[in-house]
Amino acid sequence: MDYELAIIGAGPAGYSAGIYAVRAGINTIIFDKKGGGGLVVLSPNIENYPGFESISGADLSEKMRQHASKYAQIQFMENVKKIKKKNGLFEIQTSEKNYSVKAVLLCMGTEYRKLNVPGEKKLQGKGVSYCATCDGFFFKGKNVAVIGGGNSAVIEAIYLKQIGCKEVSIIHRRDLLRAEKAYQDNAHNKGINIMFNTHVSQINGIDRVESLAINNTKNGESSLMKVDGVFISIGEEPQNSIAKDLGVKLDETGYILVDKQQRTNIQGVYAAGDITGGLRQVITACAEGAIAALASTEVLGKQYPY
Ligand code: NAP
Repeated sequence: MDYELAIIGAGPAGYSAGIYAVRAGINTIIFDKKGGGGLVVLSPNIENYPGFESISGADLSEKMRQHASKYAQIQFMENVKKIKKKNGLFEIQTSEKNYSVKAVLLCMGTEYRKLNVPGEKKLQGKGVSYCATCDGFFFKGKNVAVIGGGNSAVIEAIYLKQIGCKEVSIIHRRDLLRAEKAYQDNAHNKGINIMFNTHVSQINGIDRVESLAINNTKNGESSLMKVDGVFISIGEEPQNSIAKDLGVKLDETGYILVDKQQRTNIQGVYAAGDITGGLRQVITACAEGAIAALASTEVLGKQYPY
């Protein structure tokens, strides 16, 4: 056995789990196919993680990375391709080599949901973006739309206005935003235009985004909306392929099913963070990571610490 516990994914759940696991005496390795942090790295601003009144996702992630690195070994840019159960252990096949471990914690998080309309793929990187923090800079003084009605969409719109985009509109398919009221109030105060009951059916442009084909879902009216950029912020989908291959049970939307100790249906396999669905907040990811790490002691022959 190379390690007792392998954590797949170095976002808030994986980092927290690494800290708790090593402090509980578990020989732990963390894998991340990229540079760590998960989707939260791309969040322009987080205002509901205690201890930080306002902090960017990138800064919070960096603090977590530094903290977790003091404890666990973290293999960045090492992609876990498959996990197989073998003789009571788990074989982790990565882009680099194979590892044998006793317990696995799945923290792969989510990825951006696509709108799946004509023009989206063709104009990605040419005015279509999924990340205001990454690309907003290129739209200073320009008109942009953010599609979506959740926290991410509203936070991205506020950020785009803050960095100097000219007109910022939120386009939402329903008549009610999902975003927290505090974010909605902030958007309102910043003069962000919210278009309710509006569906985007096509993104137009030859080399760059020029306009959106929109329909009002109440009165059926169609029109063209001129924009220089469109930020698609319509939620996330779980990155569940290795979990599926391993035989881990998922709910009907693809999130991993866990019990209160973050156990999956397979003994020795735990899951934490956004990949388990639910509230999908940094604070819940961290808490679930901690619970899962400590729960894994039950298959490692270690004393359960609570
Ligand atoms: P979300 O809360 O799932 O919201 C997605 C939004 O996109 C919804 O308004 C949804 O509309 C809309 N949508 C989904 N599919 C669509 C489609 N095909 N076409 C048009 N609109 C579509 O996603 P999120 O805002 O990315 O947030 C994900 C999770 O992270 C949430 O739990 C959120 O609270 C959390 N988060 C927290 C913070 C923070 O607290 N600082 C920041 C960002 C995210 P409907 O409303 O009609 O379903």
